[in-house]
Amino acid sequence: MRLDSTDIRILKLLEDDSRISHKRIAELLNLSRPTVKSRIGKLINNGIIKRFTVQIGKEALKENITLFIMASSLNKKILEIDEIVEIYRVTGEKPLLMKAVVGGMKEAVELADKLSEFSGDIVVEIALENLKSEEAEPVLKAEYTCDYCGSTTNTPIIFKHHNVERYFCCPVCLKNYRRAVRESR
Ligand SMILES: [Zn+2]
Repeated sequence: MRLDSTDIRILKLLEDDSRISHKRIAELLNLSRPTVKSRIGKLINNGIIKRFTVQIGKEALKENITLFIMASSLNKKILEIDEIVEIYRVTGEKPLLMKAVVGGMKEAVELADKLSEFSGDIVVEIALENLKSEEAEPVLKAEYTCDYCGSTTNTPIIFKHHNVERYFCCPVCLKNYRRAVRESR
């Protein structure tokens, strides 16, 4: 399925609030409700929308300890450890970087023991404070229509206006669009 600007806008609104009504989406994007409904249906059927999910607030979560672990080699068994939530191959002396989340210090020590069994010499750092945590904004594969000139582009310039993303093929179109919006007010 090839995504277009409208699909992307619908996805972004649902990402912000998966309970947003079709009516509200239709209003925001200037579409009819049946269009919104059928677009979302298509996104689901094509596996673009996997599920509508919930983000649980920190208040409800047990105080966890986050660990960053560097290791020299990847043992396949590491992939099966549930506490390890991310693994990257990186440049540097120790080419494996892992992030783990454990329930307490005892669990942290147990995990470190297990890992050194698998990977030998490891370095474990305990995260003291999380200053910023955001999912990387995924870049979606789509064909965007420039909201100013109507040409299509795969690499749009994104400008958020009234909570809805606008897409432009080039800085000139963005500039012209912004000027037109200013003048229409
Ligand atoms: Zn353009």
